[in-house]
Amino acid sequence: MCVFCKIIASEIPSERLYEDDDMIIIKDINPQAKIHLLMIPKEHFPDITAMNDKQAATLARMLKTLGGLTDKLGLENGFRLVSNKGDDGCQSVPHLHIHILGGEKLSENMA
Ligand code: 5GP
Ligand code: ZN
Repeated sequence: MCVFCKIIASEIPSERLYEDDDMIIIKDINPQAKIHLLMIPKEHFPDITAMNDKQAATLARMLKTLGGLTDKLGLENGFRLVSNKGDDGCQSVPHLHIHILGGEKLSENMA
């Protein structure tokens, strides 16, 4: 089982800020901004390009849900979403996750 599947199964503890049938939103263990969260689908799929139609619909619902959570998460002033894929993208966990970065003015450089 991958580390995020273990977090979803509560085999590894995490600070869950939100949960529904599709996903969890947790704090990243190694924050790279004042607010650094991870939006993780409960179903394991490897990355942002490896989705069937059902999983793509899940991702769309996750993003829509995030739009209604910005105040609760302290992101009312804006945020950045990042999803790393593969070696060049420095993906380290092979379970799709969207980084949510905010809580401060972020760098204008993205890489
Ligand atoms: P990636 O490098 O794959 O895009 O992002 C993986 C992220 O997962 C990293 O930012 C890393 O800090 C985070 N991470 C790895 N293991 C854990 C963990 O056990 N708990 C939490 N909360 N975050 C983790
Ligand atoms: Zn997984």
